[in-house]
Amino acid sequence: MSPHPHYRGRFAPSPTGPLHLGSLVAALGSWMMARRAGGEWWIRVEDLDPPREVPGAAERQLETLAAFGMVSDGPVMKQSTREADYTVQLQKLLDAGLAFPCRCSRSQLTAAGGIHRRCLAEHRDETATQVSIRLRVPERVITFLDELAGPQSQALADAVGDFVLRRADGCWAYQFAVVVDDAAQGITHVVRGADLLDSTPRQIHLQRCLGLPTPHYAHLPLVLDEDGNKLSKSLRSLPVDGTDPWPALRTAWGLLGQDESALRTTAAPGSALVQAIAAFDPARIPTASAAAVSGTSPPA
Ligand code: GLU
Repeated sequence: MSPHPHYRGRFAPSPTGPLHLGSLVAALGSWMMARRAGGEWWIRVEDLDPPREVPGAAERQLETLAAFGMVSDGPVMKQSTREADYTVQLQKLLDAGLAFPCRCSRSQLTAAGGIHRRCLAEHRDETATQVSIRLRVPERVITFLDELAGPQSQALADAVGDFVLRRADGCWAYQFAVVVDDAAQGITHVVRGADLLDSTPRQIHLQRCLGLPTPHYAHLPLVLDEDGNKLSKSLRSLPVDGTDPWPALRTAWGLLGQDESALRTTAAPGSALVQAIAAFDPARIPTASAAAVSGTSPPA
């Protein structure tokens, strides 16, 4: 693998449907942050969960992004091809005693408060064939400085407990795959939606367990409407149209707090975005409302 450049960002959509406004904001925000830093922007398809996947959605998402002028600088990684690397990394955690097989069922966990702290002896069913693999989470507070949301801290054991790396149905968990793949792709900067702010401490802890580097993090605000209310899920999940990119592109640019006049709609979207890089100002991005995100909070 080539040496890491000083900035490599990424966009990592799940192919569960067409690209929607919420994901366009994440794509555009991560693309602009990377370009403004003179860096690269890579795409990864997070097709980890076959039951939730829509056939053809990954290809359509890539086509839509291309219609907006956003194309991966490196090979597009598909998580469905990554089994071998995940298996090696999981084995390291098992060998180190940091991960363990767990037979607790969802309903047992719900009855115990929803957070896994230990496997209860009476829950052990040695005949069960399907086990999940969890990471043993210590009593530790993870802190990090988010470039947009500010200082964050989370007491892992209290907030999330021992979390799943591989599900009982054999699917790899997002938290695990994202860490292995950000490292494998040499990602230095993660820019994504604030709904993933409370996942970041788990990912940082996992990076430390695996001896992997921790990228810089910036979480874009939850998409708000003009009155400052959270955009309704239906509007956020409105599919964006690659054949008519301007309405969605202008909306996404505005939601990132940027100067409308910097986006020249007379050009093709690709060249308009390139022209707008110089005007893109991260300081104008509305502050992510950390309080609205469960599980993380600015340190007291
Ligand atoms: N695949 C995730 C999603 O579509 C994003 C993961 C990430 O950016 O870390 O919500």
